Amino acid sequence: MVTRSKHIKINHEFIRELTKLPECENLKNCYQCGACSSYCPSFKYSKVYNPRKIVQDVLVGLKDEILENTNLWFCGVCHACTEQCPQGVELSEILSHIRNLASKIGNIPTHLVSEVKNLLETGQVVPPSSAINRRREKFGLPELPDAPVDEIRTLVKSTGFEDMIRRKIELEKAKEREIMEEAKARMKKMEEKKTEDA
Ligand code: SF4
Ligand code: SF4
Repeated sequence: MVTRSKHIKINHEFIRELTKLPECENLKNCYQCGACSSYCPSFKYSKVYNPRKIVQDVLVGLKDEILENTNLWFCGVCHACTEQCPQGVELSEILSHIRNLASKIGNIPTHLVSEVKNLLETGQVVPPSSAINRRREKFGLPELPDAPVDEIRTLVKSTGFEDMIRRKIELEKAKEREIMEEAKARMKKMEEKKTEDA
């Protein structure tokens, strides 16, 4: 039986779209030396997040693969890659832009969603717990001031955050369906094999 691999979509428009942005204009100067990855702490510790490879994929036009890649969120925005690039590629800025695009299609990590939800509810990404308040009191620190929640909600709404969450939920449901269908197909094959062997 011939197994067909998933077709890879090449999108030449992607690099054109990116290089229109001032911080991305040097992107095509990348000659794949790998200096960015060798100085990247996320690459060093994760071994799956590779900034050089992301630029390679952008240059080739693998838009969907890049934007759906959850490893994008391993970048800690330390800017070491940008500082070390001999070709002046502002990689950390480019990666931030790519993550913004990824968020719009629902590729956004669950912990970030929770942090933004906290921000919408309390005005703080990490709301103070009673333990934190007790410690502040013990060290003679003043009570934390209330955050302007309404203003924060208006700002967050203007970023299209609600749409991002909706897409994230849709994406997760689609993945769940895919996993279920694969599991069902595997079960069916096993049942068929059992019947054949009997
Ligand atoms: S350091 Fe610069 S030129 Fe080298 S691979 Fe990274 S982005 Fe490309
Ligand atoms: S900004 Fe991101 S990609 Fe660049 S070195 Fe830091 S963690 Fe790595």
